[in-house]
Amino acid sequence: IEEQLRKSDTLNVIGELAAGIAHEIRNPMTALKGFIQLLESCIIKEHPMYYQVITSELARMDSIINEFLILAKPHATKFQEKDFNQIIRETVDLLSAQAVLHNVQFVTDYDSEIPLVFCEPNQLKKVFINVIKNAIEVMPLGGKITVTTKKQDNGQIQISIQDEGSGIPKEMIKKLGEPFYTTKDQGTGLGLMVSYRIINEHQGKIRIDSEEGKGTTFYIELPLDLKSKIDRD
Ligand code: ADP
Ligand code: MG
Repeated sequence: IEEQLRKSDTLNVIGELAAGIAHEIRNPMTALKGFIQLLESCIIKEHPMYYQVITSELARMDSIINEFLILAKPHATKFQEKDFNQIIRETVDLLSAQAVLHNVQFVTDYDSEIPLVFCEPNQLKKVFINVIKNAIEVMPLGGKITVTTKKQDNGQIQISIQDEGSGIPKEMIKKLGEPFYTTKDQGTGLGLMVSYRIINEHQGKIRIDSEEGKGTTFYIELPLDLKSKIDRD
């Protein structure tokens, strides 16, 4: 528990800092992009390779800044009662084109007993997108992603996202969610940090079950009585 508390404190500090910096960097970035566009034709003529590097690195900065800005969203303002399965369904639909491109099939099983859930639907969608994207990326030859929702006896709802990828070595599981921890060439290592943060704000938990060579399951648990918890605070 202490470990978890420490993690969420750190996340809060990092979150505020990161969002502040991202905000400051966005304006000069916009200026840079504008000028590079103006220079496009002459750079391309002289140094086509340089232009490609510049634009792809700029795009990378953009995605880092966007993930950081998510952290700045004021909390507890847009919480609302939502059909949880609908949120998952919309997320899976959103990613279906990408899944087809990567030869990935979704298998879904949604528990129809889940009542309305008090949450920030767009933030939760970001979490599910991050986790499902990781699942797609860890199966370069394609495979199956199983998404389930379940109302548990302990008053929590659980979503599980299971892949058939490489799995995660035990000693690496601890590192997931640390800022910039990535094993990918084009990764930002921010997706899970943002996800942990959002689930923390919903007073939920993320658990990871992984077997090397077999695959990984992310379990996300959310309390059903969050509204009364937040009202009390
Ligand atoms: P990124 O995807 O940009 O690398 P994330 O924060 O989303 O950043 O993920 C961090 C790291 O966690 C990944 O680089 C990968 O090593 C590991 N990881 C996340 N999800 C999975 C998964 N389903 N299977 C295997 N490794 C994973
Ligand atoms: Mg990711």
